[in-house]
Amino acid sequence: MQDEGIGSNEVHDIISAMDEHFNPRDLKVGQDVQMHFEPGADEGSYQLTDMRIELNPLKTLTVSRTDDGFKSNLEEKEVKEVIQAQKAVIKSSLYGSAAKAGIPKTVVSDAIKIYSQNVDFQRDVQSGDTLEVMYETHQTEDGYIAKTGNVLFAQLTLSGRKIPLYRYETADGSVDYYGRDGQSTKKTLMKTPIDGARMSSGFGMRRHPVLGYGKMHKGIDFAASTGTPIYAAGDGVVQRAGRFSSFGNYVRIRHRSDLDTAYAHMSRIASDVRPGTRVKQGQVIGYVGTTGRSTGPHLHYEIMVGGKQVNPRGVNLPVGQQLAGRDLKKFKAVVGEVDSQYAAKSGAAVKVAQRQVESQDDIN
Ligand SMILES: [Zn+2]
Repeated sequence: MQDEGIGSNEVHDIISAMDEHFNPRDLKVGQDVQMHFEPGADEGSYQLTDMRIELNPLKTLTVSRTDDGFKSNLEEKEVKEVIQAQKAVIKSSLYGSAAKAGIPKTVVSDAIKIYSQNVDFQRDVQSGDTLEVMYETHQTEDGYIAKTGNVLFAQLTLSGRKIPLYRYETADGSVDYYGRDGQSTKKTLMKTPIDGARMSSGFGMRRHPVLGYGKMHKGIDFAASTGTPIYAAGDGVVQRAGRFSSFGNYVRIRHRSDLDTAYAHMSRIASDVRPGTRVKQGQVIGYVGTTGRSTGPHLHYEIMVGGKQVNPRGVNLPVGQQLAGRDLKKFKAVVGEVDSQYAAKSGAAVKVAQRQVESQDDIN
């Protein structure tokens, strides 16, 4: 501030005025500070009248000169709930294409979770496929999204095949995503209980990377960096959570009397996951690591039917529900509402895009 020719006494006064709302030490290098000057009492002199600092997209700090010294005020932009709809055409990466379409990252990762039971994102999604989403946001008047909420509707179109899913809360209060017919997406265990991971070793005979000789690999390995969240592949009850010999930090979940999943080599087990804990599909149960007999950070994932490991790629194990009776009737009404809301919102988005193109034409 002294660079701007403000006396050191005044700098002190301004800083103490800001004190109430903000520690000036939190000011970052490169942060924009607007200052407004007016001619002062002495000829040719200027004095600071107002100063504005945008602390973040929601908060702006102002300091103004008054008759009794500087006064500061914190302006907070109002946020309101807005339902937003967007469509992304998937090119090379889902996250990249979604970002280009203006879909927040949190919404994309929710969408991946919603579809993870039906779609293998590494294998099934091709360039030109689309993702449509409608979701809740808290945003400012000028369109800054402070927070995203629930995904209300999602539709993936894979090689022309549409897979719409609707969020619905049943009479007993459980929330899930359902197809148009009221069949829950949780009809099978998640095939990939982790985001953005690469399958590094399949199920079957292989040369063991640590032991060196041929050994049956009774699960699937997903390479991912340490700390990547691992999800419960289905609703169930935790049977085991802790150190388990060569598996390192290990969690085993029972989904049905004859169906378990297991997750090994975690760096850390989620603090709320203990034997006897009830978990929901998609809930974070731990984080990728390399504990136990392991050569690098990865998730070792097993599905057990009647206590025997099976190839997760080869099974479709039903664990979900089909809506019926009053719930199905209510759900059908929700589907109708959501469809027309999405049509209206996505139609509006298309119009905005067209207008932008037209105004560009005017310039050229
Ligand atoms: Zn393994």
